[in-house]
Amino acid sequence: MLTLAWFVVVLVGAFALAYINASGIVWSAGLAVALAVGWGTQAVPEWLALIFFVVFVLLALPLNVPALRRKLLSDPVLAAFRKVLPPMSQTEREAIEAGTVWWDGELFSGKPDWNKLLAAPRPTLTPDEQHFLDHETEELCAMVTDWETTNVHRDLPPAVWQYIKDKGFWGMNIAKEYGGLGFSAYAHSQVMTKLSTHSGTVSVTVMVPNSLGPGELLAHYGTEAQKRHYLPRLAKGLEIPCFALTNPNAGSDAAAIPDYGIVCWGEHDGKRTLGLRVTWDKRYITLGPVATLLGLAFRAYDPDHLVGDKEDIGITCALIPTSHPGVAIGRRHLPLNAVFQNGPNWGKDVFIPMDWIIGGQPMLGRGWRMLMECLAAGRGISLPSSATGMAKLAVRATGGYARVRTQFKTPIGKFEGIEEPLARMGGNLYMMDATRVLTTTAVDLGEKPAVLSGIAKLHLTERGRQVVIDAMDVVGGKGICMGPANFVGAAYMQLPVAITVEGANILTRSLIVFGQGAIRCHPYVLKEMEAARATDSVKASTAFDAALFGHIGFTLSNMARTLVTGITGSHFVRVPSAVAPETRRYYQQLTRFSAALAFLADVSMGSLGGALKRKEKLSARLGDILSLMYLCSATLKRYEVEGRQPADAPLMHWAIWDAMFKAQTAFEGVISNFPNRAIAAVMRRIVFPLGRPYVVPSDKLGHEVAKLLLEPSATRDRLTAGVYIPETDDNPLTLIERALAATLAAEPVEAKIRAAAKERRLDAKLPAGAGLDVLVERAQTAGVITVTEGVAVLSARDLTAKVIRVDDFPQDLGVSEATLGATMGAQPASSPSVVQKVAA
Ligand SMILES: Cc1cc2nc3c(=O)[nH]c(=O)nc-3n(C[C@H](O)[C@H](O)[C@H](O)COP(=O)(O)OP(=O)(O)OC[C@H]3O[C@@H](n4cnc5c(N)ncnc54)[C@H](O)[C@@H]3O)c2cc1C
Repeated sequence: MLTLAWFVVVLVGAFALAYINASGIVWSAGLAVALAVGWGTQAVPEWLALIFFVVFVLLALPLNVPALRRKLLSDPVLAAFRKVLPPMSQTEREAIEAGTVWWDGELFSGKPDWNKLLAAPRPTLTPDEQHFLDHETEELCAMVTDWETTNVHRDLPPAVWQYIKDKGFWGMNIAKEYGGLGFSAYAHSQVMTKLSTHSGTVSVTVMVPNSLGPGELLAHYGTEAQKRHYLPRLAKGLEIPCFALTNPNAGSDAAAIPDYGIVCWGEHDGKRTLGLRVTWDKRYITLGPVATLLGLAFRAYDPDHLVGDKEDIGITCALIPTSHPGVAIGRRHLPLNAVFQNGPNWGKDVFIPMDWIIGGQPMLGRGWRMLMECLAAGRGISLPSSATGMAKLAVRATGGYARVRTQFKTPIGKFEGIEEPLARMGGNLYMMDATRVLTTTAVDLGEKPAVLSGIAKLHLTERGRQVVIDAMDVVGGKGICMGPANFVGAAYMQLPVAITVEGANILTRSLIVFGQGAIRCHPYVLKEMEAARATDSVKASTAFDAALFGHIGFTLSNMARTLVTGITGSHFVRVPSAVAPETRRYYQQLTRFSAALAFLADVSMGSLGGALKRKEKLSARLGDILSLMYLCSATLKRYEVEGRQPADAPLMHWAIWDAMFKAQTAFEGVISNFPNRAIAAVMRRIVFPLGRPYVVPSDKLGHEVAKLLLEPSATRDRLTAGVYIPETDDNPLTLIERALAATLAAEPVEAKIRAAAKERRLDAKLPAGAGLDVLVERAQTAGVITVTEGVAVLSARDLTAKVIRVDDFPQDLGVSEATLGATMGAQPASSPSVVQKVAA
């Protein structure tokens, strides 16, 4: 009995030491005390105590004497690690090392310091930025309709191009000293979000020069002369830029581009000049067909050693005027019927001088790192903003539509079946916007958040797609028949563009988020890899030893924390007292996820080693867990920043419950598919010791969220803040807004009319199936409603009829006309509205 008690105490003590990640000395002292007590109390027989003691000395001595520890333990592990470490190319290494680690590091730590998240500043706009958003951005929206742009002009009208250039839309990310607007990432994102609520073509046209466009590359890596020459011209639209990386044979695997430049002497401006003879073939290049300045990525070679020892110098970025002899600009692609300018370009043996390399000769071969660093910021802003913008439009318009559109004498938004997609739309959008804003906060804090921007790009475009698909299902045929009255069809068609560009989503999910996240965010893995690659053997041994034993303590600690938080439902996890009480449990659950992810990641990396890179499905699920924790963090941050709005709480709760359930599914997916079944069984016991506790958001919660989308309110305005609603009579969203207000105003009047009709107060001889106009007229005559109330009812019907109508076109869809689009746009809808029918 005594022996058992001693054993239990030792086990609990060891667990406690693992939990707090105790140092080697504390572990040794703890074990020494345990042995002494066991021997002294005779809980352990003397012979066994002696064996334990010998084992203890044999372990404790090398573990606590660094030189011995390295020789006996770390160095052999280092040698083995070097053998299994997968080979990494220069480009892979640069991609992994690009950017910085921010909140993602905390999420990977096993015990995130929530105070850091809470302390992140609330982003705000300067007066200039706010003015630009309220005036220039609104004005730009007012200048276009997506339908006309796409179907009439097949391009932005010239006046719109000019407005974009003149007002500096292409220079949002260019510093004021170079003539740009010098906007914060947050302001840039606000502008992109608003534009995307109105026109995909405008949004993409503005987006590209502000993300990967050479402006960003120049600002960070250009020579002073290049900056002085190009940045003011780019900022004012005197140059139309594009950036060409993708080759027909290298899309996702962009580092494998076969485009090349040979360092050589040539002639430029009549002088013998050192430069490169470049050959390339690019496709899908946004703004390419109209560009005046081509940013070009190619691999530089120096076979004659004119600039150094290396023959294969590496990926290099240059700026080439498209007027330069040999530059061929092709025709246009038509990406999912969107008409932003996009097309191929190519050149063969085109000589360019060395100072056209971005950053000049010293930056030869540094292009990949430049691209990765710049992508880290741009990817976190542009596509997350455009996906959120499209989702805002879809949510605002669809919620209103679902309220005014009735079937079975009921607004469709009140059917439980429709509540489900509506709740998903609301919850997803709340989380998307939160993530968009938090990611721009990181960029404005000076971070280049490589992993977080990948997460934002991947998950916001995926959720944006889900929101738009849900919108399509809710609005039915209205979303399917294209025309100026369709508010969601274009987004439905074009969202896959966002899914594919700037790192296609499947690739990002399968390879990047966890692949890069585990190495960059993990406190020890990168250190171990760096030590393994170090050439100085003493330094390598010392660094590896420190990283290895830190790593072991980290893993043991996370294992203990995962199990304890699992058993206790994480009720005892400490959370900052500053958080809203209704969110406290979420912080605790996320801390549990953090420990479990760190534990699972270590077990996966430890047992699968380099093979994990090829286990993309496991890697994707581990990445999903990290991503969902980031999305939840952003959601909780938003809730705090916006003052814990009680009316918004259902959106926050829905988003978090949904994400926690999805995270649980991802954990389950990793464990169920883990190749080593014995390890999987242990992992399951540790991660889910009492089963799987997370469930989908309840139907009741979904009902509350759906309700928020159906009626005007401060919550609906906050959720869709920034959506462009013009004051014109033909914009579908404007019509929905008006119809919604009119419907809600008319409903009490209609109730009075119905009650009077039931009591036969309107007229005993009311014809069967009498129309609304008859009812209104009789209700007015009978004094049941006033004339104003009657007008309100008819106007609600009129507006609703306009909202539900769809466009129709001539028999040949206008093919016989000179311009198909003009004819299509010009046709009035054939079916008159209810009020028109009534009037007739
Ligand atoms: C409208 C549009 C605009 C664009 N603008 C530009 C531009 O301005 N400049 C520019 O340089 N490029 C541009 N691109 C190119 C874009 O970046 C590429 O389309 C993208 O990188 C994907 O390459 P791909 O289309 O050749 O697909 P592929 O590389 O053939 O990929 C096909 C599928 O395979 C998946 N996949 C590939 N490798 C893996 C892997 N290891 N694991 C899992 N899945 C994988 C991808 O995720 C994708 O789903 C644009 C593309 C489009 C369509």
